[in-house]
Amino acid sequence: MSELRLNVLTNEWVIVAPERVGRPTDFVRARERPPAAPFDARCPFCPGNEAECTTELFRSTLSGASSWQTRVFRNKFPALSLDHGDPSPRRDGLHVSVDGFGVHEVVVETPRHDMTAALLRVEEVEAILRTYRARYRACRAEDWIAHTVIFKNHGPNAGTSLIHPHSQIVSTPVVSNQVQSRLKVMGDYLTAHGECIGCRLVDEELQAGARVVRVSETFVAMVPYAALSSFHIWVFPRRHAASFGEVSDAELADLAHMLRAVLQRLYHGLHDPDFNYVIRSAPRGVRREQFHWYMSVVPRVGQVAGFELGSGVYINVTRPEDSAEFLRSVRVPEEAAPSSRPHRTAVGG
Ligand SMILES: [Zn+2]
Ligand SMILES: [Zn+2]
Repeated sequence: MSELRLNVLTNEWVIVAPERVGRPTDFVRARERPPAAPFDARCPFCPGNEAECTTELFRSTLSGASSWQTRVFRNKFPALSLDHGDPSPRRDGLHVSVDGFGVHEVVVETPRHDMTAALLRVEEVEAILRTYRARYRACRAEDWIAHTVIFKNHGPNAGTSLIHPHSQIVSTPVVSNQVQSRLKVMGDYLTAHGECIGCRLVDEELQAGARVVRVSETFVAMVPYAALSSFHIWVFPRRHAASFGEVSDAELADLAHMLRAVLQRLYHGLHDPDFNYVIRSAPRGVRREQFHWYMSVVPRVGQVAGFELGSGVYINVTRPEDSAEFLRSVRVPEEAAPSSRPHRTAVGG
């Protein structure tokens, strides 16, 4: 029988209906990615083409390397413009608007055009996370910014067709309803129980174990009890902190191992699926105890259809415990040589 499960962080119901598909391995599919070279002269994110991007805001370099490792610049086609607008609402009958200003940055994750984070060396993944933290803190220093989201779209079903590995950072002068709703859930729990629901969740999941994918000294990767979709993963810091900006150097190094391990499990277990990840932090002005930051990784292996649109209730065709077991069991080959990205073509299953 299927089961309705409540996601305690969002207060949303999810239908877990595994009989609609079957086993987790049913999602293992052949995927065709267009063949890519390590360098593409037409790609604005490749080394040598820096002038095609807007002004650089940040770059990192690994010791001994001839090229930069990560770069950040403003999105050439931003969703929000940097020109400072008026944050006060304008009303037209029922309708409300404010000027569409904000910060929309692009993070180029590696000089290699054809790489993916799952195949990078751990110090290269750490460089990406350090870049995120530097830009997150820089955005936080701007007092007009209410909320900052760091996210990655990988593959066309996740919202990008650009091959060169990159992620984005968007800062807004408003806080969305979805974020407000999570804040309220966490705040209500804190008021009622005197403890953080995120800390509690980490403790309970570590004790239960069935949904845990990987544990390290400072992080835990787990499939949510009421995951919206197959192989959805949360990465939670075990130390309470309200925002990604609070992560320490030691935690950042540990998170690099954790994130790489999670992405490797998707890459090797599900054959490089399209995916999104997002780093969720508290908006400005929220008490530190009221929010527990975390990262959500969502492989785009299923489809959202009318029922989800009409009800807000997602149907997950894989039991979260089965997703976790599958991800734990994925065998990750020895670190791939940086020059030989395996290009997937005819993978069966
Ligand atoms: Zn490129
Ligand atoms: Zn907490």
